[in-house]
Amino acid sequence: MMGDLLLRTLRSPSRLVPLDALLRANAGGSRMPQVLGRRLNADLADRLAAICPTEAMRRGSDSGGRWFELDYGECIGCGRCAAAAPEAVLPAVHLEACGVRREGLVHRWNLDTGAEIPPQAAEPPRLDRWLGRAVNIRQLDAGSCNGCEAEIAALTNPYYDLERWGAHFVASPKHADLLLVTGPVTRNMAEAVRQTYAALPAPKLVVAVGACGCSGGVFAASPAVAGGVDQVIPVDAYIPGCPPTPAMLLAGLAAVLRRRLGRRGADRVSAEAVKARSATAGAGSVASRANPQSS
Ligand code: SF4
Repeated sequence: MMGDLLLRTLRSPSRLVPLDALLRANAGGSRMPQVLGRRLNADLADRLAAICPTEAMRRGSDSGGRWFELDYGECIGCGRCAAAAPEAVLPAVHLEACGVRREGLVHRWNLDTGAEIPPQAAEPPRLDRWLGRAVNIRQLDAGSCNGCEAEIAALTNPYYDLERWGAHFVASPKHADLLLVTGPVTRNMAEAVRQTYAALPAPKLVVAVGACGCSGGVFAASPAVAGGVDQVIPVDAYIPGCPPTPAMLLAGLAAVLRRRLGRRGADRVSAEAVKARSATAGAGSVASRANPQSS
């Protein structure tokens, strides 16, 4: 029985998900909204702002005219906006706002023209110059419901395979390049977060994960919560979602690190590369892993 299973596994074609497909920040299932700016009008904008439970959607006006805004850092993906206005709000398939600075999470549209007003200073810091070919990550739960942790754990499975591009989770902040913080920071955890940050060696890179990490989420007003991670320690980049999908996490981390995993890196782990390796290794080999940094 076990022998049959092993033989069938070895004979089945090996397949590795191309890295460029994973890095597209697949937001399917996250229920994060995608706004079609040209379909917005003032009435619809008012309606959306009224139903959003976290006030992630809001409207206002300034010298540039009337605007509608969506703060992905406050969005919990409840889906109410897409249900209430399917003509103007769709569930996002891909989400670009992963691994950006806080301003990059806020998307704004001009209600008179429907045009999107580009977020300012949305680029994450360039860290590829500081870090070598590997990055050590310490994950810190500052008070989360563990939804984000479940998705982070999925990064280490064979499908997402975070380690293929040299990223590892480590047990101590003293060994980490990057602190991945989830949850609204509870007042009980605030000092622990500060001490963990103090123990982190330079460049002390911090990424806030999830609506709670980005803004405090639905717990922001709680007296037991200090707020989003940036209320306690400096944050370099944000990955929104409630929780973010593993692909959003992967894309966000890659955006922060700006590792050169574009066409070249993706090619190295493409199906063709795997096929060629299988041929070299001989029939029946399990040549399904390819490290894009190994050559
Ligand atoms: S999906 Fe996000 S933006 Fe839409 S109503 Fe819910 S919290 Fe607000």
